[in-house]
Amino acid sequence: MIFLCAINNVLSGTCNEDCKFCTQSVRYKAAIERYTFKEEETVLQEAREAAANGALGYCLVTAGKGLDDRTTDYIARLARRLSTELPHLRLIACNGTAGEEQLRYLKAHGVASYNHNLETSERYYPSICTTHSWQERYATCEAVRSVGLSLCSGGIFGMGECPEDRESLLQSLRTLNPDSVPLNFYIPNPALPIPERTIDREGALAVIRRTRQLLPDLPLLMVAGGREALFGGAEKSMFDAGANAIVIGNYLTTPGEAPDRDRQRLRELGYTIATDCHGA
Ligand code: SF4
Repeated sequence: MIFLCAINNVLSGTCNEDCKFCTQSVRYKAAIERYTFKEEETVLQEAREAAANGALGYCLVTAGKGLDDRTTDYIARLARRLSTELPHLRLIACNGTAGEEQLRYLKAHGVASYNHNLETSERYYPSICTTHSWQERYATCEAVRSVGLSLCSGGIFGMGECPEDRESLLQSLRTLNPDSVPLNFYIPNPALPIPERTIDREGALAVIRRTRQLLPDLPLLMVAGGREALFGGAEKSMFDAGANAIVIGNYLTTPGEAPDRDRQRLRELGYTIATDCHGA
């Protein structure tokens, strides 16, 4: 059984932080679309399309270091609207660092889960970001847990980290005991300071296997960004390694596979596409 999740970049490309893997930082001037607070009707229509494509999880993402009052209100408004009109969608918010009060507010408005990635190991983190700390990221994940939201936390592989960093990140994730772990594989962009992806398919499979080994009961082990580049035509290998969820449609600033092609491919491989999130 494979679970499908979709993401909507509802505020794009306006971030002042310096994460070296991220085209949404204004520092690197990547050629991406930049906008603030996508119209509610547009988000609703895009969510309908994602649901029609089989998405069960729907993630509302904003660029920026963390939640401020305006963004919290905006996401809460979207969540209220979406949970009323598309009640079977499981809403995930991904809005950077957040405190318990903000997270409780989102939960009260229909958000079920909060995504905040540790990104890489605590040791390697200063090499990829200097404007905020790994510890802040970890603290947000703990806050998500403490307010009773489901925690979605993972990382990005292939940013120049060594094998020990990969292991360290996975061990840290284990201490958080997330409900969902998205594994991203770095997508190079000429504007970004990290020149190339330093992981291949075998390396990525090793990461998936190790995650499943460390978190055997993890409900959702998701292959997210970079899937097409590393596993296009070899999707079965990532499910054999322990993954059971994918992101469909476009990523934050890079296009993904067409959802109907993904669904067709999953059917050809003999997988059932999940139609509810219960037990996951
Ligand atoms: S804080 Fe988030 S949006 Fe900003 S540069 Fe880092 S990853 Fe990108």
